[in-house]
Amino acid sequence: MRAMADTVVARCVEHITTLPQQPLYGVCDAESLCRSMREPSPAVGTPLESLLDDLFSTYIPQSFNTPSPGYLAYIPGGGLFPAALADFIADTTNRYTGIWQAAPALVQLEANALEWLREWMHFPAGTRGVFTTGGSMATFNAVLCAREQYLGADIRPGVIYTSDQVHHCVIKSAKLAGIMPDRVRCIPADAQFHLPMGALRDAIAKDRRDGLVPFMVVSNAGTTNTGAVDPLDEIADLCVSELLWHHVDGAYGAFFQLCDDTRDVLRGLDRADSLTLDPHKGMFMPYGTGALLVRDGARLRAAHEATAGYLPEMPSPDDFYDPSQHGPDLSRGFPGLRMWLTIKLYGADAFRAAIDEKRALAVDAARRIALLPHVVLDAPPELSLFPFHLTWPGATLAQEDAATREVMANTSKRGRVMISGASAGGRYVGRVCVLSFRTHARQIDDLVEDLGHAIRDVVGSMA
Ligand SMILES: *Cc1c(COP(=O)(O)O)cnc(C)c1O
Repeated sequence: MRAMADTVVARCVEHITTLPQQPLYGVCDAESLCRSMREPSPAVGTPLESLLDDLFSTYIPQSFNTPSPGYLAYIPGGGLFPAALADFIADTTNRYTGIWQAAPALVQLEANALEWLREWMHFPAGTRGVFTTGGSMATFNAVLCAREQYLGADIRPGVIYTSDQVHHCVIKSAKLAGIMPDRVRCIPADAQFHLPMGALRDAIAKDRRDGLVPFMVVSNAGTTNTGAVDPLDEIADLCVSELLWHHVDGAYGAFFQLCDDTRDVLRGLDRADSLTLDPHKGMFMPYGTGALLVRDGARLRAAHEATAGYLPEMPSPDDFYDPSQHGPDLSRGFPGLRMWLTIKLYGADAFRAAIDEKRALAVDAARRIALLPHVVLDAPPELSLFPFHLTWPGATLAQEDAATREVMANTSKRGRVMISGASAGGRYVGRVCVLSFRTHARQIDDLVEDLGHAIRDVVGSMA
């Protein structure tokens, strides 16, 4: 065991310490590689070393280098090393944390970690939550709670409202929870990518006139496209007066609740009926760590409570937490341990400082990028993500889109930072998202420099 573990740890540490030198994304012919990898099930074993060779030299490099300090694409996260060690402990001890009785003290650690999230988000006592595989499954559980509260068994007339900037997982989650896509209203966002209140009110009124049953608004605390935060406080007011469930998608942005600088932008987040968080983004956990908080914890339990002849009775469900009574899983991994160990090891202040730093880096990056020639900032960084595009006198929209696309690719090709774009507001925008714990001022310098060179190359040849 020790020899196997030492071999693996040595490889992992070597990998992490050389991250900045590794390519930011795979460059080989991925289709041929994948075809060449198909094989029948092996009848006999292979030595560990040779399996690790393939993994670390061939397969791992053919991927987005998401834990790299220069990864500013999509929504970064990073993957804190102690969280992986917590998983190692969880997997080797292999205790059963699906039900409280099987490992009460371990489940209490998970309950503590959920309580800490509650505290950071300023949710009230009585909130309950559940760790999920990601934001998508957290949102599914939120739709389920809203549906049960407002629709009961008659779910077909129920309608959900959100903006057209919403993450596509909301439409998938709604469908999983029995709310079909024709009952999800994706209202066109305003010029700054926010859910417009007037259009939201009109859509609700129209559906009521048509005999449908509005029951839920999903607002964004940081969209994936541009980082926009909807007017959460106003939407919370509307949901109170219209008797609707207010879910906030904080998969990208919720952890900015830890940061003083973004308090105003996120005002109202703490009034939500439920909140999606993605610790594998804003808390730098390894992938597979999502979370949901539900303000009225009894709603979450009601959606999942179940008994069976082979299950022991829970002694006092109001006092103790049982994961299987708050989510769809029974047997499961132990996500609570990676959260608990990491938070205990570093302390909340370290996470707050890291989030503050990412926010400051994004503000600095936006300021400097806006000064580059031909750049138009489409929106300021409300949290740590901002969109921009290129323009020059006489450029058509198609030319601007092509140039912006080319500049994004050209910048990433330089190998120091990776950035990605998105379609938003009728055009292609470049975007920068700062959220890896490994990203510091040095990467922002690299970004501004490489983007500047790329713009000169691309616009010089197009304009
Ligand atoms: C990432 C993301 C999601 C989906 O979460 P997963 O963890 O990928 O399932 C939902 N909403 C937003 C805003 C996101 O950034």
